[in-house]
Amino acid sequence: MNILLFGAPGSGKGTQSALLVEKLGYLHISSGDLFRTAIKNQTPLGLKAKSFMDRGELVPDDITIDLIKEVLLKKIGQKFILDGFPRTTVQADALEVLLRDLKTSLNKAIFLEVPKEHLKKRLVGRRVCKNCGATYHMDGHPPKKAGICDICQGEVVQRADDKEDVIENRLTVYETNTAPLKNYYAGKGLLKPLNGLGNQDEIFSRIVEELKS
Ligand code: ADP
Ligand code: ZN
Repeated sequence: MNILLFGAPGSGKGTQSALLVEKLGYLHISSGDLFRTAIKNQTPLGLKAKSFMDRGELVPDDITIDLIKEVLLKKIGQKFILDGFPRTTVQADALEVLLRDLKTSLNKAIFLEVPKEHLKKRLVGRRVCKNCGATYHMDGHPPKKAGICDICQGEVVQRADDKEDVIENRLTVYETNTAPLKNYYAGKGLLKPLNGLGNQDEIFSRIVEELKS
């Protein structure tokens, strides 16, 4: 079973992906994480992606598609979750072709539904470990020691694109470019909308139920 987990920025895709990896052994393919690693390592791809990401814009489709292609070619054979890709219908079409060439397909497109007023709050309060990528939230789930990761003692920081003005832009970009994927996957009979409100274990249970059905 290969799944696409999608939803607005702040809908919990990353958190739920981490649970799917830990508890069900999925391979996690996150375009955002791949770009952030490329930026950290100062690769040519990272240098190209950085200015778009810092502004909350999408990285151009051709760059993004090449990146995912490279990863999928290497990892084929394991059941995977796609998180953050596709984000446009051009990317979705490219994915379809790519998976067909690899003789595989997406089985479900799980959409995490979270009303807009919650998204901003979640994003503004989000903090991440620079070292291991663990996520925290200032209300509800802060690191035990301020600024230090519970898991690896790494530094816990705010992502550059989680600053308030950039968040606004990301939400607009999402509405314009990514929200139409709901119709795209509904048309293919793959769309599985799930309530994305609640604590992370509740949401995870909903996903597990959906995967069983
Ligand atoms: P979030 O879902 O919280 O916005 P991500 O880590 O998925 O965070 O993405 C962060 C940024 O990386 C996006 O705002 C965008 O600039 C870039 N990005 C990630 N995935 C894609 C994609 N599929 N197409 C274009 N840009 C992308
Ligand atoms: Zn950590």
